[in-house]
Amino acid sequence: MPELPEVEVIARGLRKSIMGKEVSAVKLARRDMLWSPCRDFVRIIKGSTIASIGRKGKYLLLRLDNEYTLLIHLGMTGQFWLSHHSEAIAPHTHLIVRIKDSDDELRLRDPRRFGGIALLKTSAEMLHPRLARVGPDPFEMDAEEFARRLSGSASAIKAVMLKQDVVSGLGNIYVDESLWAARIHPLSPASRIRKDRLRALHRLLLEILERSIAFGGSSISDFVSHLGSPGYFQNEHRVYGKSGQPCQRCNRKMVKLNVAGRGTTVCNSCQRPPAGKAK
Ligand SMILES: [Zn+2]
Repeated sequence: MPELPEVEVIARGLRKSIMGKEVSAVKLARRDMLWSPCRDFVRIIKGSTIASIGRKGKYLLLRLDNEYTLLIHLGMTGQFWLSHHSEAIAPHTHLIVRIKDSDDELRLRDPRRFGGIALLKTSAEMLHPRLARVGPDPFEMDAEEFARRLSGSASAIKAVMLKQDVVSGLGNIYVDESLWAARIHPLSPASRIRKDRLRALHRLLLEILERSIAFGGSSISDFVSHLGSPGYFQNEHRVYGKSGQPCQRCNRKMVKLNVAGRGTTVCNSCQRPPAGKAK
């Protein structure tokens, strides 16, 4: 599932390639990809110019010069990339946005359809129910603010980090990777972790997210960049999806747990389990 770095890779790529360009045609193949009905969807977007491209948590925002914003979420399997118009259209391509005076078109493909699209008034975009509860991402807060937000909950630290209203943009990959880097067990109650350790977690998290963006994100199954190419950060993962393998720090075997309903890989030697929690 695309997380902050993957959505950021697409946002940065599209900023370089389509910002300031006009939309010459729009095709919405599946209206049920729209989170709220919008009869004039095609008419509003066609002929507009892409004024800016933003990201809020895991959401992509294409702001048009007509005061509308096209909001896109890639769900589990979404891909949003620039394709040459002559390329065959892959199954599950739900939206095509043709760019004027260019051979390229933006295609949104999402086989499992956990993602979605909305067209919003730019002036009220943050009031949309999908965005209203999205908190700041780790880049938008300092270590102190990060520690304060996380320590407000007695739930397992991993569960708190996944809450998009507490800190946005994170999913299974970057939570597991950063907790391992900070030697914090995912089941540790967030409110019981010392503030200096939470500040260190913030620093390590930023490093991991920045490195992932530099590597073009993690392509576990479906993720591709704005150019349709995979990222390479999956080759840099230390823990995610590596249960049963030796820990790269202490060489003990890493194990899989279920935390907050999510498969979680942990090194019980480097990441000491909280008292009373099964290993
Ligand atoms: Zn270890």
